Amino acid sequence: MSTTDRTLFEKIHAREIPADIVYEDDWCVAFRDIHPQAPVHILITPRKPIPRVGEAVADDQAQLGALLLAAGKIADQLGISARDKGFRLVVNQGADAGETVPHLHVHLLAGRALAWPPG
Ligand code: AMP
Repeated sequence: MSTTDRTLFEKIHAREIPADIVYEDDWCVAFRDIHPQAPVHILITPRKPIPRVGEAVADDQAQLGALLLAAGKIADQLGISARDKGFRLVVNQGADAGETVPHLHVHLLAGRALAWPPG
């Protein structure tokens, strides 16, 4: 695969594009969103460049589970797990949801009251 075929997030994983990485393990890399929508806004990304959740396959089950497990660990690390604080996880797919980067990612948002329903 040529350099140009790789996603923005693969280039962050490879440290070719700078990012504020807050967590990584064998499955995931998590870093601060460049345009934060809340005081805490982390993107949790799979090492495998699955384009979006609707294109994941059965073999991706462990990879998908690892994203949520990472979210819990990051929330603990950031001190936002307590019920009186909390956080929201968001996955955008497609134009209506505002997907802009074709590499699956979970947004972890926290640090302020988050409205429901979302916009
Ligand atoms: P989505 O709109 O759900 O596809 O989310 C993509 C997210 O990636 C947006 O919130 C962007 O602000 C974020 N983003 C784009 N480029 C970068 C970057 N270089 N470093 C960190 N976050 C980025």
